[in-house]
Amino acid sequence: LSGVLLGQGVEGLASEAWAHGAQNVYLIDDPLLKNYRTQPHAHGLVALVQQYRPEILLLGATTLGRDLASAVATSLGTGLTADCTRLAIDPQTRLLEQTRPAFGGNIMATILCANRRPQMSTVRPRVMDMPARDPSRQGKLIRHELGMREDEMLTRMVEFVSAETADVVNLVDAEIIVAGGRGMGSPKNFGMLEELAKVVGGVVGASRAVVDAGWLSYAHQVGQTGQTVRPKIYISCGISGAIQHLVGMQTSDIIIAINSDPEAPIFKVATYGIVGDVLQVLPMLTEQLRSKL
Ligand code: FAD
Repeated sequence: LSGVLLGQGVEGLASEAWAHGAQNVYLIDDPLLKNYRTQPHAHGLVALVQQYRPEILLLGATTLGRDLASAVATSLGTGLTADCTRLAIDPQTRLLEQTRPAFGGNIMATILCANRRPQMSTVRPRVMDMPARDPSRQGKLIRHELGMREDEMLTRMVEFVSAETADVVNLVDAEIIVAGGRGMGSPKNFGMLEELAKVVGGVVGASRAVVDAGWLSYAHQVGQTGQTVRPKIYISCGISGAIQHLVGMQTSDIIIAINSDPEAPIFKVATYGIVGDVLQVLPMLTEQLRSKL
């Protein structure tokens, strides 16, 4: 198991990769890699793959990871399964089983890349457990030259503009998420979710129905076309539990669902279920927790 570090001044991160399980870390440290650009990053990663020939190459399904993975797969002439939610190895064929939602999330498709190498997937952050950090673990650092010059670059970094106006909510790293669905009835009732989130130290998430209705911004959306989250506690309020929502939150440690319909699919993944009117249950729950915390 090896990790790849591409950047400038990133050598110090190698120990993090070892601490989390990597045996080798391949490092390309170069000023051209200071800010992300597809061309030099893809060039470096392709060169590493061609030299060291891994069976499998995995990247994060982040905005940059998606961009890099597709460029690298194209250069290498291999397949790429984007946004996997599960990875496994077939014990007989030793092929990588790459599972992801398909056809609008109505089925889970397992995809194989039998004839090309490496087998490439991107996986969203938080889909898998982070292995425990063991700072005593050491590994091997393998340095590699990028071998490119600035005047060969097709693009140039002019300025970095941060998304200051964007609605900031960090769902991905949140330990507690209080999420609301269409069952909340109207946008004014989301104040109740904010209240509960404040009491338990969590953040507010939402189903796509809520975002499509304009009740909350896209930054709050959990699910296949939103964020994949893995909090310690996910409190679902008036969310039916459509498959496209479940794929984004079903690996949460504890799921507490409040829904008036006892047959709602959310109860199939819930650790604790409360059948009732969310507008009545939520204030009671918040009061109880406020008095305990
Ligand atoms: P509904 O399905 O309308 O459910 C509302 C629930 O609230 C019901 O179960 C009802 O019983 C309950 N309820 C009503 N009133 C009350 C009350 N007073 N008290 C308690 N409970 C009450 N969805 C996502 O969430 N995230 C995604 O990323 C996503 N991506 C998608 C991608 C594609 C390609 C497609 C086709 C769909 C996607 N969807 C996604 C939409 C998804 O299929 C559902 O339509 C959506 O999740 C439904 O949102 P909801 O549960 O809030 O609303």
